[in-house]
Amino acid sequence: MSLNQQQYINGKWVGAISGSTRDIINPFNQEIIATVPESDESDAKAAITAAREAFDNGEWSSTPATERGRIVRKIAELIERDKEELARLESLDTGKTVEESRGDMDDIAGVFRYYAELADKDGGELINSPVANSISKVVREPVGVCGQITPWNYPLLQASWKLAPALATGNTLVMKPSEITPLTTIKVFELMEEAGVPAGVANLVLGAGHTVGAELASNVDVDLISFTGGLVTGKKIMQAASRNVKKLALELGGKNPNIIFADADFETAVDQALNGVFFHAGQICSAGTRLIIEESIHDEFVNALVERVKKFKLGSGFAEETQMGPLISAEHLAKVEKYVEAGIREGATLAVGGSRPEEPELQKGFFFLPTIFTDCTTDMSIVQDEAFGPVITVEKFRTEEEAVKIANDSIYGLAGGVWTNDIVKAERCVKKMRMGTVWINDFNLYFPHAPWGGFKQSGIGRELGKLGIEEYTETKHIFQNLKPEPINWF
Ligand code: NAD
Repeated sequence: MSLNQQQYINGKWVGAISGSTRDIINPFNQEIIATVPESDESDAKAAITAAREAFDNGEWSSTPATERGRIVRKIAELIERDKEELARLESLDTGKTVEESRGDMDDIAGVFRYYAELADKDGGELINSPVANSISKVVREPVGVCGQITPWNYPLLQASWKLAPALATGNTLVMKPSEITPLTTIKVFELMEEAGVPAGVANLVLGAGHTVGAELASNVDVDLISFTGGLVTGKKIMQAASRNVKKLALELGGKNPNIIFADADFETAVDQALNGVFFHAGQICSAGTRLIIEESIHDEFVNALVERVKKFKLGSGFAEETQMGPLISAEHLAKVEKYVEAGIREGATLAVGGSRPEEPELQKGFFFLPTIFTDCTTDMSIVQDEAFGPVITVEKFRTEEEAVKIANDSIYGLAGGVWTNDIVKAERCVKKMRMGTVWINDFNLYFPHAPWGGFKQSGIGRELGKLGIEEYTETKHIFQNLKPEPINWF
């Protein structure tokens, strides 16, 4: 059965003005699972107008913060109530295992809860004014109308990082999810309506990046654009946003190093190096796809990885034994195939994988085998470019300095890891690693309390944590003279 979905503008469920629609495809078998509106600039403009009016009438921003927090908490409760339905929908749309999607839903509810708690905690700050007889205070106010654009890899998780802090701080918003994975975002807008978010405050427009997304990025009635996606798109958004000097938040790609020292706990490091990459078939911005292994354990470590990888069970995200699902689309599969061809051309050694699986039952899905390249060097494109698929590149090092130098040799700076039992060495390394998140003896762990974002070309700003809510506020200094009198200068 295929769902027939709508988008949400000014408190109403509507189709595209043009009447156009788009079929949403199950990446496991290419079946149509839903038909949704395919909007364009005119729908985006209507949603922006609704959000602008809702912000300018002041109703939501002047709703007591405690009440906004209550509504955001209610959204968390509704997500928990409908967790199984949401998880299954996410797996249908993305191909990832239902077990992974269930974990995502717990995290998503956690994000709404976290920002519900923070909603009424910032009462402003009194400054010690250097001027006699005065009061000086700093308050935070909502930015205004927020445009929010999300990718397809963690559709609802990425949406939650933007929706929860924007609502908690009294903004209004227009969200555009990835055109290929909109289903759970549609469902959460239903839950936001049920939770009592007023009409016009949160709007959802479904459509492509170059139409709806570009309108959100350039429209002068949008005060902030928050984008998660690829670097090339991020640069376009930055350019479009300059039109009215929008506030800008960018969560872009990563090419994340994972340094394995010889004194690390071998079995744990092997296991976690796999976990660091292959969840959701490597389609994770923080995937630890650049393994940097100390020379003395290199061969043994690679052999252990290869043996484990050969046993991976690929299949439907709905089958209990499946460990890895398909890639998101035919287009993305072709991109990963090209990337692997480049690796072979550049002289890297294919240790395992490198092609599509042969099993007949996997032929309709966009599957690619988990792949490991050895003999890689930092100048290779497969070491520098984001594959966003199940592909590891392995580099070797001899000294700590060399390991850190290799790790930092990237235009990206999203995340990285270090495995060692020498905690002082680990601390020395992470101090020099130029990334927004670094893990010592772990990988890919994150939670709502800690900020997330990138150094270098991995982005601008932070989501999650206290910084993630501050992104949605403007800071205002209010100075009050308690004893005004003439200066008589003029
Ligand atoms: P993408 O850049 O192709 O698309 C992301 C979103 O931008 C989609 O909604 C798309 O429709 C929209 N878009 C495309 N062109 C646009 C334009 N000209 N103007 C406005 N919007 C436009 O990225 P993707 O392929 O969906 O996602 C994968 C990328 O996202 C990877 O690079 C990954 O690293 C990154 N990502 C980063 C994080 C992070 O936290 N840093 C998290 C998840 C994904």
